[in-house]
Amino acid sequence: MSQQNFDNRQIIDEIRNRIDIVELISETVSLKKAGSSYKGLCPFHSEKTPSFNVNRERGLYKCFGCGKSGDIFSFLEETQGMTFVEALRELAKLAGVSLPSWKSSDGGKREAILALNESAQKFFSDNLLSKNGNEARAYLGKRGINAEMIEKFGLGLAPTGWDVFYRKAGKSMAPENLKVSGLFREREGGGWYDLFRDRIIFPIQDIHGNIIAFGGREYLEEKGPKYINSPETPVYTKGKTLYAMNLAKEKIKRLSCAVLVEGYTDVILCHKYGFSQVVASLGTALTSDQVALISRLASKVILAYDADSAGQAAAERGIDIVLMRGLDVRVALFEEKDPADLLLSGDESRFVASLDKAEEFIEHRINRLLESAKNPQERAVAAKNLLSSLSSITDSILRSSLIKRIAERFGVSEDALITASNLDSRPIIEKAEIQKIVRGMDTELSLLKLMLEDPELREVGARELRPEDFSKEVRRNVFSAIIEAGRNGESMIGDLGGRVQGIGIDLLAHISNSELPTGDTKKLFSDFTKIVKLQKIDAEINDCTVNLQKESLTINEKVMLTKQLTGLLKEKSLVVNSKKVGEHPV
Ligand SMILES: [Zn+2]
Repeated sequence: MSQQNFDNRQIIDEIRNRIDIVELISETVSLKKAGSSYKGLCPFHSEKTPSFNVNRERGLYKCFGCGKSGDIFSFLEETQGMTFVEALRELAKLAGVSLPSWKSSDGGKREAILALNESAQKFFSDNLLSKNGNEARAYLGKRGINAEMIEKFGLGLAPTGWDVFYRKAGKSMAPENLKVSGLFREREGGGWYDLFRDRIIFPIQDIHGNIIAFGGREYLEEKGPKYINSPETPVYTKGKTLYAMNLAKEKIKRLSCAVLVEGYTDVILCHKYGFSQVVASLGTALTSDQVALISRLASKVILAYDADSAGQAAAERGIDIVLMRGLDVRVALFEEKDPADLLLSGDESRFVASLDKAEEFIEHRINRLLESAKNPQERAVAAKNLLSSLSSITDSILRSSLIKRIAERFGVSEDALITASNLDSRPIIEKAEIQKIVRGMDTELSLLKLMLEDPELREVGARELRPEDFSKEVRRNVFSAIIEAGRNGESMIGDLGGRVQGIGIDLLAHISNSELPTGDTKKLFSDFTKIVKLQKIDAEINDCTVNLQKESLTINEKVMLTKQLTGLLKEKSLVVNSKKVGEHPV
């Protein structure tokens, strides 16, 4: 169903009249009054100066940067991935307008699941507060989670037994909704049982407060996995939500700062002690969707992860993603204790101090690297690696100031640093692997040899490589010929069915008579592909850098070249960071 054939115009107008578009959009985008309208950073494209306008009187938004425009309905459709009907239902609920019942194409799936989740939350919560929940409440109490927090976060307890909740709520549901709700599992012999059994339940809410999923924690003894989470459902996509964002958004907006912690209990304790700008990324590593969610409300984010090394590693992984959105990233350090321990032991002031003293990301990274690098050689390598990890920064001014700082702190020259990070891609492949390249065969020829010999690698090559990846015309021709002959199921002999001529035939003969590289050929192929791609990108980066130094450039040409360079550096970091070839877009 679309807006056009939903004929009850009156209802739509009624909802439009009742809902303030500024208020609605403010839930997810920080808006400031500017003249007769409101302005903020566009949620549809990445920008640093606000060009996203919201007009309360007209009930419309428009971005002068990317051109997106619409009303309250399209806003939810676009930002929450809802259909028009889902947006209509959501907004009708918000406006307190009742909708006539009608048949819609999605069968009201979203609404059915949200309603089921709500009744599940109530069921689990009642159970926790009953005498069944004595032990669980004691467990939570020991971790500082009191009745007030249980209520605020809607915590619950899934009962012991295989299908207690199913018998209560699932039986009356349409089987197709049962399946996608994520709360039940199908028995092998038919029938259903509960996903969550005998676990403390943490409801996960979206930014509007809808219960979209659950996390369940073991508390009696370690019988199974410590945590079980809802699978993805029509209302829940992993990595798109931040735990407690619905409770934290106001304060995050007010402070223009979000604090990220690791788990449910960290969040709950922080809120208990008044730090309600705290959210968690729900166990998974921070995703770019989550960062986007924050960057619409705040300009700064503090990573307050556990003191152990896993926590630190998580902090560093998260940082690169955060930097891409141009956020001011800080890292809070906790010696010996994690945030929850600190608060539990009554050390609130130390928690506050840690947040206040949170190091700027780059400072944090430099300090850690300097700690471990003992001599000038190690420092040079560390500086170079750090710089290559910064190639995801798209702001060229920021990037060049960072290069300057890194050079100073590591005691190396800026020029040397830039040259090294741009041109030397080889260290990513171990020396031993390089030596496996057979005499007289460089990386490109080895790739061709492997493709010639192994049909499987031929297919990989067809997928991962392009003729342009090869440096010489004749090699490109041979590559294309191998792919084409392979595709037609022809044998790899002679001139490949006349596809190769002239010096191409000589090259083919040379390759055919060479030895096959030894070792894990799949791994070699993947490494060689990476090298070839990096060589090509490095050559382009080099051209770009040389051109940028020409004095005759106009401002426009400079901007174009800088853009091109930024793109290349980003592409390079994608290739460098891809675990195996195929993970990066080719
Ligand atoms: Zn925009």
